[in-house]
Amino acid sequence: MLKKTIESLNPYVPEVPLADLEKQLGVPKIVRMSANENPFGTSDNVRQAVLNWNFNQARDYPDGDAEQLRQAVAKFVQVDPDQLLFGCGLDEVIELVARTFIEPGDEVLEPWPTFSEYKLHAEIEDAKIVDVPVNETTGQFDLDALAAAITPKTKLIWLCNPNNPTGTYLQPEAIRDFLKKVPANVLVLLDEAYMEFVTEVAQPSALPLLKEFDNLVLMRTFSKIYGLASFRVGYAVIPKALISSMQSVRLPYNLNTLSQVAALAALQDQDFVTQTRQRVATARQAWETFLTQQGLTYYHSQANFVFFNAPQAEQLKDYLLQNGYLVRSGLRPDWLRITYGSTEQNQAVQKLIQTFYAN
Ligand SMILES: *Cc1c(COP(=O)(O)O)cnc(C)c1O
Repeated sequence: MLKKTIESLNPYVPEVPLADLEKQLGVPKIVRMSANENPFGTSDNVRQAVLNWNFNQARDYPDGDAEQLRQAVAKFVQVDPDQLLFGCGLDEVIELVARTFIEPGDEVLEPWPTFSEYKLHAEIEDAKIVDVPVNETTGQFDLDALAAAITPKTKLIWLCNPNNPTGTYLQPEAIRDFLKKVPANVLVLLDEAYMEFVTEVAQPSALPLLKEFDNLVLMRTFSKIYGLASFRVGYAVIPKALISSMQSVRLPYNLNTLSQVAALAALQDQDFVTQTRQRVATARQAWETFLTQQGLTYYHSQANFVFFNAPQAEQLKDYLLQNGYLVRSGLRPDWLRITYGSTEQNQAVQKLIQTFYAN
């Protein structure tokens, strides 16, 4: 009865609600450092906007075009408002891309490891997924190998920048060089979910490249630096020739009213974004210093997490969890991904790691 591609599917394992996990393990308080959420919360602008929301609107369908949010985001990223596609989280946009473009037998290229949703949706659409391993030493994408892996069957290429889980970042120049090698009928999806965390360069985004390439899609989310994960708002800038087809595939009311209100308020508080970026940069520095001191191998990250080689990773993860800190394993054997927390949280986790390896 099932579609052939669904039978063998590995579903995304979502985060367990913390209250359930605490109860299950008998640990009084668990801090989640496994989902790349913002440890500094959400802009107070959002709280105000949500509390001021007119509840009488609850019975009305949302604005299916998210017009206010659309105009504000378009102005912010300087694109035509008609090129924006909003999703119930960037997750939904990723699903929509697969649903709109992939036909059975198409090839989908991605670096590996990367965000697992690209593969999941490609598999559902019966694509052949081609994983191109990242550079083992630096964690950086092997763009030459990716370009060499393009065949006449290649339909989509996913590039997550900075990449989840490696945290590595590519400058727009490197992306441009790569795009020049990609045939015009292959769509390149650039997932910039963590772009706002980059501090290495002043203008880190590949946004300017949209003017040069008609086969480039750029994606952002409000879940990470804006601290709005529960509201589920993500968006993509889609090439003009493709946007109306993608809008036809999208569900008409995919973005609820309160999410639109929250995202708009979040966008309007760029001070919160700047502050978070600075605090994350401080945490990043502290983590790199710590991991170096411990002699642990890590990839240089420009995101809000670090990916490092942790001998006995599963035991370390359990030890941290028993002590109240949830981190992410299972992305690569013996590697862990830790989302930076507050200074106190980072210091506590670092102390636990030190103790674990000292014994
Ligand atoms: C978190 C994440 C997303 C999805 O974010 P949403 O919460 O669905 O907006 C997309 N891409 C990457 C790389 C992510 O890490």
